Amino acid sequence: MRLIERGSGYPRIAVIGGIHGDEPAGERIVERLSETVTVESGTLQLIVANEPALAAETRYTDADLNRTFPGDVTANDYETALAPRISAVLEGADAILALHTSHSAPPPFAIYSNCTETVRKSITGMPVDYVVDSSNLRGSTLDSTHPNTISLETGKQGSDEAVEFGLDAARDFLGVHGILGERNPAYTETTVVTAEEEVPKGDGEPEVFYRNFEEIPAGEIFARDDEYTHRVTTAGKVPVLASEHGYDDIFGLYGRITGSIEPPA
Ligand SMILES: [Zn+2]
Repeated sequence: MRLIERGSGYPRIAVIGGIHGDEPAGERIVERLSETVTVESGTLQLIVANEPALAAETRYTDADLNRTFPGDVTANDYETALAPRISAVLEGADAILALHTSHSAPPPFAIYSNCTETVRKSITGMPVDYVVDSSNLRGSTLDSTHPNTISLETGKQGSDEAVEFGLDAARDFLGVHGILGERNPAYTETTVVTAEEEVPKGDGEPEVFYRNFEEIPAGEIFARDDEYTHRVTTAGKVPVLASEHGYDDIFGLYGRITGSIEPPA
């Protein structure tokens, strides 16, 4: 883990990249922020999480870091022992932004587990049209184990666009939380998609027929391979993190549009 701290006092705001080593955008965004951001008030914490996995260009070395929180300092595997060290640095932060990329098609989107007022500000203050409520899913991610935390899927893994979008969005995030001094953030309403379940993937050539947040009509096939044909039976389902080759064991998730988050009053 690499930590760069700027400024002093409160608020203390954190941006963390490189949780997954095969997603270089997060590290690049953190480095660009460290070179370009002038902290006007409070403390900015910039973190590159998983340096060995980044060096090896692999998602993780022993275990998926974003499935190991809160972790265990005495564990033998690298990520399980790293998670509590990261948590100790983030403890008490007023707002946290975790950067990710994926193999699914645009648009970028945010993810939260618990919609606090701080999370509402973070999400409506960033240029995303969609946010995924992942509170029904596993509880071992960074955003499910730290208060006032959101994740941001900035774009396609390995693309320059993911870096540029993430940089703009991270600056907006720092702006709404006061790190950049006097600034009037532009808040916008954001559509909420509640994630419901993972869609398993098996053997054979995978095919995915719908993009993220595109409604799958009842009776249509979302995805298939030699083992599975995922035909949806009810209206209103939308894919989240949909991709053919992004994950070994899932095509993505099914979600449902359940409302919207309004800008803070
Ligand atoms: Zn990731």
